Amino acid sequence: MPSKISMSPEGLLNVPEEPIIPFIRGDGTGVDIWPASQIVFDAAAAKHGKKIAWKEVSAGQKAFDESGEWLPQSTVDAFADHLVGIKGPLTTPIGGGIRSLNVALRQLLDLYVCLRPVRWFTGVPSPVRHPEKVDMVIFRENTEDVYAGFEVEQGSSQAKELIDYLNSKMGFNIREDSGVGIKPVSVTGSKRLIRAAIEYAIRKNRKSVTMVHKGNIQKYTEGAFRKWGYELVREEFSDQAVGWDDCDGNPGDKILVKDAIADITLQQVLTRPEDFDVIATTNLNGDYLSDALAAQVGGIGIAPGGNINYVTGHGIFEATHGTAPKYAGQDKVNPGSVILSGVMMFEYLGWDEVANDIVKALEATIADKVVTYDFARLMDGAKQVKCSEFGQEIVSRL
Ligand code: NAP
Repeated sequence: MPSKISMSPEGLLNVPEEPIIPFIRGDGTGVDIWPASQIVFDAAAAKHGKKIAWKEVSAGQKAFDESGEWLPQSTVDAFADHLVGIKGPLTTPIGGGIRSLNVALRQLLDLYVCLRPVRWFTGVPSPVRHPEKVDMVIFRENTEDVYAGFEVEQGSSQAKELIDYLNSKMGFNIREDSGVGIKPVSVTGSKRLIRAAIEYAIRKNRKSVTMVHKGNIQKYTEGAFRKWGYELVREEFSDQAVGWDDCDGNPGDKILVKDAIADITLQQVLTRPEDFDVIATTNLNGDYLSDALAAQVGGIGIAPGGNINYVTGHGIFEATHGTAPKYAGQDKVNPGSVILSGVMMFEYLGWDEVANDIVKALEATIADKVVTYDFARLMDGAKQVKCSEFGQEIVSRL
């Protein structure tokens, strides 16, 4: 019997044998990617006696064409009600009220973690010599920082009022002709993000959590993020984790929580990637870091993502690329990003065996050089297949 996923009073997900999972097919290439991904999900689940009751909901261009709304309330309600869902890429409305549908969904459900695992799959063309050394999981704060959208436009009366206030009352020296953005970073937002990263490191037997920040310059936002992180380790995790300063870099059998400045991190993930494991970072740093790292493992077209609230249980897993409209309906593009987002979703549900089987089958397919156009053009001797065929090839290797 299909039924809903729920959250227990102890904060654990209750996942029924046949969970109802809402999905958004996605605009543009979503029409190609979703069916190729769904056959992989269904086959892998069936192998372990499980089944998913898919519930289609819409957003983006498709929803707008059908209902005049980019993000219908019924779609938000479906994700709110069923806790866990998955989505393909969505067209970003140009002009109008919604800045981005993805941002809107994250804010409406308070999905405070943007989770981006970054690892290399044997055979994937990469621009670096040792992509196999990259195995990191990024926890990017998803609700604060300059992304919160608190901005005033240059020349507006609001900008004038704010600049006058800041200059006269706070002693700032902001030019009259500036636009101004506000960067809020709170104790609440920082600690819940870093807590999620440390708990993940404990669950997955990871060795370290690195807090990436720009605290040498932005002391009361980025610097405070770092300070609150170390505080949290002492307050809540002293049995399982230890901060760098409290152990001189020698954590024994505990998880080491350390920190690194954002610009240096962007160098070091290239020069010594093996030093990084789980990363916890503020919103803007996380944005840069996730894409830079995805490129390092050649995965920009197949990088998966998840947006999660570990307290309420809500999680939406999603393709990280866009709708690539020029390829829409050609059965051509790589469905890897949605397939690996599904892997993240199954891990989140505790269906590790389903997730692991998909990863192994995807890896075997790429190792056999059976790939879509984007990889084929960078590989010698590859067999180029269509989007749907790539899905079938994975199923045949499950
Ligand atoms: P895009 O859709 O990500 O496409 C840029 C390029 O990335 C494509 O031309 C293609 O490169 C490559 N690519 C994208 N998806 C691929 C796939 N599945 N397999 C292989 N290669 C893939 O970015 P865009 O053209 O800037 O944006 C198009 C629309 O998507 C916009 O409306 C944008 O706002 C939206 N968008 C949505 C999301 C989201 O929903 N998560 C994210 C980003 C953008 P080649 O041409 O070199 O092969």
